[in-house]
Amino acid sequence: MNIRNHFASPAWYDGEHKEVIGLYRKQNAKGTRKRRRLHIRRIVLFSLLLVILAGLLLKIPAMTMEYIREDTFSPLQRYRTVTIDRSEMASGELILVNSSYAYSFDQPDQTVPIASEKNDSYQVKDEEIRLNEITIRQFNRLFRAFERSTGLSNVRIISAFRDYAYQDGLFQERVSDLGYYEVIRWVAVPGYSEHHTGYAADIAVADEEGNTATFTGEGDYAYIEENAWRYGFIRRFPENKTDLTGVANEPWHYRYVGKAHAYIMYMTGMCLEEYVEYVKSYRYGEKYIDLNIHGDEYKIYYVPAGDAEQVEVPVPLFGSYEISGNNVDGFIVTEKD
Ligand SMILES: [Zn+2]
Repeated sequence: MNIRNHFASPAWYDGEHKEVIGLYRKQNAKGTRKRRRLHIRRIVLFSLLLVILAGLLLKIPAMTMEYIREDTFSPLQRYRTVTIDRSEMASGELILVNSSYAYSFDQPDQTVPIASEKNDSYQVKDEEIRLNEITIRQFNRLFRAFERSTGLSNVRIISAFRDYAYQDGLFQERVSDLGYYEVIRWVAVPGYSEHHTGYAADIAVADEEGNTATFTGEGDYAYIEENAWRYGFIRRFPENKTDLTGVANEPWHYRYVGKAHAYIMYMTGMCLEEYVEYVKSYRYGEKYIDLNIHGDEYKIYYVPAGDAEQVEVPVPLFGSYEISGNNVDGFIVTEKD
């Protein structure tokens, strides 16, 4: 091969040269693309930052916002219906059980031993005593918050779920001591106790020897009454509502109803009897309770059960909701945005 000729070959040289230029252009194009991608990435990141900032700015007033107001249903709100057995009216977190409305034992018992689910921020009388899981979970949170605030972990659950036989035994025992008319002020007639629901418990204050004193909700313990709503609890039998509840003042008896409802009852001073009545004026299709608790938005409305075996309950097409019977005549839907 003639090397000189080879080098001198213009065709070959041009070829090589073109290839080099081509390569350079390719690299150059790659560089531009890289820069462009970087630029796009910067724009995307910047926009994201803006969105987050705007979100935070909007969220800050929302987080401090609190209101209970009413609003009317609009055609823009999309609903579908779920079919529920009329008997379901007797179950859920909002069931009213008192001397007029008996608890229905037809539903499955969903209680579990408190001892197996509780944390160490409070005590429980014995291993047997039971509640619904949600009630225990929320007591765990309430008493943990109480412990953090006061350093106290000596609240003790002394009575929780009671089946019919237990309530009957309790009732008969007291009747022989005190007489029927005195007992019905304090002990519910079997079948009519809120303790049948698994959503209610009596608490006491334990000392170091393990003895318990009546829970009065005074001093450090006022925290519980003031903050119970945050965890979905109400003080069920307040002193100023005895004529409506039919039960004497019981600062130790707490009932789980869910946060949105506990909040309204706490803020307005309504007892459960009044609240169940109040919600009935917020019928689906007409108006609803529009609730905001520090940025958490709820819609609450009532659906009458009617007389048929099956009830069509309207629920939001999107978003989460809960349905509870009221144990009187219908259902309460709680929509959470
Ligand atoms: Zn009680």
